[in-house]
Amino acid sequence: MKALVHQMICDLCGSGDYSRLLQISAGRSMRSDRRVIDCNLEKYFCNRCGLVRGGDLFNSQNLQDYYSNEYTLSEQSAEYFFHTPQGSISRSSIFCEWIVSMGAHHWEPAMRCLEVGAGSGLLLREFIRRFPDKTFKGIELNRAAVMRAQRRGLPVQQGEPLSLDEGEFDLIYSIAVLEHVASPTKFISDLRRLLKPRGLLFLCQPTQDVPSYDVFFIDHLHHFGSEHLHQYARKGGFRELGFVVGHQWMPNYSLHLWQSVEPPTEFAWAGPPGYTTCAQTGREVMADMARLDRLLVELSEQRRRVAVFGLNEVYWLARAYSGLGDFPVVCGLDDEPDKADYATLGFPVLVPENCLALGIQDVILTMNRVYYGQARERLSRLGLNVHGVLS
Ligand SMILES: [Zn+2]
Repeated sequence: MKALVHQMICDLCGSGDYSRLLQISAGRSMRSDRRVIDCNLEKYFCNRCGLVRGGDLFNSQNLQDYYSNEYTLSEQSAEYFFHTPQGSISRSSIFCEWIVSMGAHHWEPAMRCLEVGAGSGLLLREFIRRFPDKTFKGIELNRAAVMRAQRRGLPVQQGEPLSLDEGEFDLIYSIAVLEHVASPTKFISDLRRLLKPRGLLFLCQPTQDVPSYDVFFIDHLHHFGSEHLHQYARKGGFRELGFVVGHQWMPNYSLHLWQSVEPPTEFAWAGPPGYTTCAQTGREVMADMARLDRLLVELSEQRRRVAVFGLNEVYWLARAYSGLGDFPVVCGLDDEPDKADYATLGFPVLVPENCLALGIQDVILTMNRVYYGQARERLSRLGLNVHGVLS
């Protein structure tokens, strides 16, 4: 289906020739801060460069208001932990380690460093501990997050990158921001302005080189493959020094290291559209949701007592795009059952081993696929039937 969307111009290549990639008209969609909102989801891909983008729900006017006042993910009161066979590892330490692993020698000469989209400062704190001799600053739109960071004694200020001085930094890093901004071209150009000549920029965000269900997040406005990032670097006056697709615990993230150079006098997309798995992922996740709906009917007919294991992104994905929200879930399972945001779920949350007391027979795995092996093993030992959401 080819639908020309007249008002949209591709941020990367300037083309206005779009096809629709995804359309969900059930009146519900998911935000990346795990809210389900009453709104249809639409995604499009640019026929010239292949960059995938959302519809026009968010524009630069309402985006600033959204991230300053409404968005809750950056406000993070506590660390997010990945539960691995080696024990729990904080998200901040994983990102810090990953970024440094791109080459510690890149960090040695850098004295003034900036985090863009610093949230409540957890990653910034990790870097400050790691490099106590460098000067760090963070900038963040979300007011509640900035207050929390400042209460932690961290140098995070409220505002946009434009509010900082030109050429102030040797090194900038920005995690999971690029997919949220209205114009990545403008964002990248703003960051380059803040860097000294030959300054370094680390960008890390979901990659569509591999399946990534964030194409279903309504506030992820652009979806990039490696080729798109590479061309954004060229367009924005950077040289790509290296990139990595996938981390052991975040297989759908890519990390890119760029160095500021002279910007090109002109930029044009050359060659075929850049590759992404978005269309395939869209079809697969929709099939997963349809399969989940059939499972829910079955479990309901058999009057099974059902728990969900995993209460983060995949759970909310299923709440938004399947009938899970209307299904009588008995309880949720999590190793940290007392998180404050679980109060609004509408069911109790327990450590998995405690769910037998509630007569649970079946568990739906509403977690990232990377945990399925561990979870299946653990739940099977309790004699429970286990159903994965994602195929
Ligand atoms: Zn394009």
